[in-house]
Amino acid sequence: MNPERLPNPYRPQPDLVAADLAALHGRLDWPAVMAAATPWVQQVRAQPAPFWALESLLREYPISSAEGRALMRLAEALLRVPDAETAIALTADQLGRAEFDAASGDADGPHRMLASLSASAIALSKRFLPESEKPPGLLQRLGSRTVVAATVRAIQLLGRQFVLGRHIGEALAEAAEQRNATPGLRFSYDMLGEGARSERDAEAYLGSYRGALEHIAGGRVAASPQAADGISIKLSALFSRYEVLQRARVFSTLLPRVQGLVSLAARANLNLTIDAEESDRLELSLDLLDALAGFVAREHPQWAGFGLAVQAYQTRAGAVVDAVARIARRHGLRFMVRLVKGAYWDTEVKRAQELGLPDYPVFTAKRHTDLSYLACAQALLGHADVIYPQFATHNAATIAAIVQMGRAAAAPFELQRLHGMGEGIYRELLRAPDAPPLRIYAPVGEHRDLLAYLVRRLLENGANSSFVHQLADDAVSPDLLLASPLVSLMHAPEVGALPLPVDLYGSARRNASGVDLACAAHAGPLLQALTRVQVEPVTDLTAAEAGAAMARLDAGFVDWSARPLAERAALLRTAADRLEARLPEFCALLVQEARKTWGDTVAEVREAVDFCRYYAQQAEERLADQTLPGPTGESNLLRLHGRGVFVCISPWNFPLAIFAGQVVAALVAGNTVAAKPAEQTPVVARRFVALLHEVGVPADALAWLPGRGETVGAALVADARTAGVCFTGSTAVARLIQRTLAAGDGPIVPLIAETGGLNAMIVDPTALPEQVVDAVVQSAFRSAGQRCSALRLLCVHEGIAEPLIAMLAGAMAELRLGPAADLATDVAPVIDAEAAAGLQRHIARLRQEARWLAETPAVAERAVEGAGAGAGAPAHLVPPVAFEIARVADLKEEVFGPVLHVVRWGPGQAARDVESLVAQINALGYGLTLGVQTRIDSRAQRIADAARVGNVYVNRNMIGAVVGVQPFGGEGRSGTGPKAGGPHYLYRFCAEQTLTINTAAAGGNAELLSGGA
Ligand SMILES: Cc1cc2nc3c(=O)[nH]c(=O)nc-3n(C[C@H](O)[C@H](O)[C@H](O)COP(=O)(O)OP(=O)(O)OC[C@H]3O[C@@H](n4cnc5c(N)ncnc54)[C@H](O)[C@@H]3O)c2cc1C
Repeated sequence: MNPERLPNPYRPQPDLVAADLAALHGRLDWPAVMAAATPWVQQVRAQPAPFWALESLLREYPISSAEGRALMRLAEALLRVPDAETAIALTADQLGRAEFDAASGDADGPHRMLASLSASAIALSKRFLPESEKPPGLLQRLGSRTVVAATVRAIQLLGRQFVLGRHIGEALAEAAEQRNATPGLRFSYDMLGEGARSERDAEAYLGSYRGALEHIAGGRVAASPQAADGISIKLSALFSRYEVLQRARVFSTLLPRVQGLVSLAARANLNLTIDAEESDRLELSLDLLDALAGFVAREHPQWAGFGLAVQAYQTRAGAVVDAVARIARRHGLRFMVRLVKGAYWDTEVKRAQELGLPDYPVFTAKRHTDLSYLACAQALLGHADVIYPQFATHNAATIAAIVQMGRAAAAPFELQRLHGMGEGIYRELLRAPDAPPLRIYAPVGEHRDLLAYLVRRLLENGANSSFVHQLADDAVSPDLLLASPLVSLMHAPEVGALPLPVDLYGSARRNASGVDLACAAHAGPLLQALTRVQVEPVTDLTAAEAGAAMARLDAGFVDWSARPLAERAALLRTAADRLEARLPEFCALLVQEARKTWGDTVAEVREAVDFCRYYAQQAEERLADQTLPGPTGESNLLRLHGRGVFVCISPWNFPLAIFAGQVVAALVAGNTVAAKPAEQTPVVARRFVALLHEVGVPADALAWLPGRGETVGAALVADARTAGVCFTGSTAVARLIQRTLAAGDGPIVPLIAETGGLNAMIVDPTALPEQVVDAVVQSAFRSAGQRCSALRLLCVHEGIAEPLIAMLAGAMAELRLGPAADLATDVAPVIDAEAAAGLQRHIARLRQEARWLAETPAVAERAVEGAGAGAGAPAHLVPPVAFEIARVADLKEEVFGPVLHVVRWGPGQAARDVESLVAQINALGYGLTLGVQTRIDSRAQRIADAARVGNVYVNRNMIGAVVGVQPFGGEGRSGTGPKAGGPHYLYRFCAEQTLTINTAAAGGNAELLSGGA
């Protein structure tokens, strides 16, 4: 185990900024930095980029504009579309369908853009493409649709600006040519592609890295890795589960692969750099570095070409630099360390917000990133005995500062830029005879592989905050462009403009705090809690006991409903805070009682917290008395109040979140609540009820009533005192409840039912297969498929079905089955023996009637990583499985488990087009969730309009609805509505009263007569 532990990433940024400032104090002469960089900027601006260059295109169509977004969308998707029809639909969609066929040249956006794209394409074709290169098949098929053809070509050529060659041979030849023009240039080749989703992908990458290394070496041993070309590798390409929670497999599978590449590089004495990826892998990457350093020290002790990239935008960047230096020293090695600012800023910010993390793991002000870069640079130069620093940036001010610091330190170092970026600034810099050496990071790959990379570069070039973007904008003066991040920050340390993740919802309510399971400090308390919690046995109530409870709740209604709304809301908020503080305990309970995996438990506790805060806020906003307009001499008031005793019946799959949501909604609306948990999961519900009692909800306003549905549930529903029922569970039981309520002779009792779904995901050929596979695996198999929102029916366009299914099969093979308590488990056992048996019966039937596609292998005897005692044997494991069925209608009933049905659509199938597909899905009669994977915006919109479902998710997974963000619930057989966690929910728990007072009755209309009305 690597002894290098990093600090908590979620520390207040002003403190970190202050530390960086202190480290740089007196080290930089910024006027000299500006004096060096200003002429570079002036020279670059004096020779503007040609009109077809990316800078020019982005200047005309900023990424924030509709045209810019269209450009991004086309760049990301168009080249992978296999069929002409879809390519036309996508292009038309993005460039403006209405006037697509009209003569271009008007002044409006789409046409100008089209004209520009086409012109760019033609100009670039002439410049770059040899005569012999024929347009690809797609263009030929499109024939007269030259517009689409031009767009395809334009995107291809746009991509080429960033790729040195389609394969390593071409890249080496291009590099040799560039080196002829600029002697001394070095290259680091990067084999492009999406991260691996399967072992097959990983092996393909491994092969391509090996091949590249052999080509680069060319059978020779380089004199020094610093002076020679090298390679950059991404660990996520070499193993599909390069994740902290899969640590053991990372070491058993990924480590040997990297060791193999390291040996190849070491034998040829070339530089091998591990690229930096997302921050949740940072600690793991250092652990790997330590293990690899041990390997290098043993096998290749003379080699000084091993390296990694460090991202300055991470709040732990400084600590990483020091840790890397310590690892090098401990193993007696020299490393090459590339310092970058970081390429995943938007992803990091989104993840932190989604998970409700305490802060961001990256700086949230651009200048803080710049400052951190300089502080890290200083630190790297200070470790010159063990580190050869490689400074990768396109920012002229940063470059000039680095050159100054490097010279002062008298340490060797090099600069780096990306191929296709920063050419102008480096051209100017290299004019100086004593300029430091420059290495070019050179992506290599076919069109299909460069799309994700291209989009990253488009974003980077197009972001307002980016240096390259501002350099292209003459309105930004050199003084502003090159302003010191030190001086300005010294006077006003900047706090990030982004709200903290907990403040995402502004003043309305606090976002529930989450946990980063990838961070050891966060996961520890959860695992410890598992050793403390006990799931005690529970005795079911009898129907008579349930009746007695109803009597108490009925009597308690008067007092509870008379409590001021603000008081009831305040109790919910206090409950939310308590629950948040006890998150580890509740998570551990959910692991034990409901067999939920840790990630699911954290999400569930957060959802319950959100429900409390959201309904408190909604109640105050919506349930307060409202004055209504009316004639003079009369006051009209609309008042909402509780109905009486609400029976809340919840399921075992969300034994805390759904239970809590129902209960607190009913309570805050002024009802007393008979809360019946599922018989499989009564204990977590009991603890939550106890928590509500602790914060002040009276015992005669809320009762926990455990028992079976047929006895306790049935008795509660049939009780004459029941004023409303809120039920989540199967459609069959909802019908039973509806009939019972209808059969009563008493008041007409409202039913809120949220039931199951036959949820589909529609995938068209513009979708990104990797994103689809991620979304499918999460939606169909997370929580072992035991979510009502879970994906049951994957509808894939026939044009992409084969490769997509193959990729999905590969990803399913990498899932891990195991006990819920094991942090590494992806799929835990299903809830009980009965559920497992039902699923096995369904699977057995499918084996006869459908085409088997893929299955997760059951892994016997696995160590329980990090799990405490009492984890329990993993009985009732049902491995995720996928079958192909012929038509949508073959899916008859909801199967509540990890069983995925796949159907193809397209011209040769039962559903010929997307419209008939949606109609067939609607005809199933359910209407809960629907996933859509397409880059054709208008298509996504049309599908959403036509679909009779409650929740539509485009280009993401279709589970994990967030309270107040994606209110949850469906229609048809999927439920009655209103949506849980939505603005209309609380009304259904209320009775309404209008109070009309004739104010003129006693003594006439004084107000009118005095002229005040
Ligand atoms: C040779 C080379 C190799 C690279 N390898 C990697 C790698 O392995 N891993 C990787 O992640 N990146 C890598 N990059 C990409 C690098 O991170 C980007 O080039 C960088 O984003 C651009 O930095 P800059 O100094 O050129 O531009 P600048 O415009 O000066 O800086 C842009 C940086 O500021 C950050 N930023 C923007 N807005 C904010 C904000 N509001 N708050 C805080 N920060 C903000 C951006 O995320 C980005 O990191 C590499 C770059 C080069 C040149």
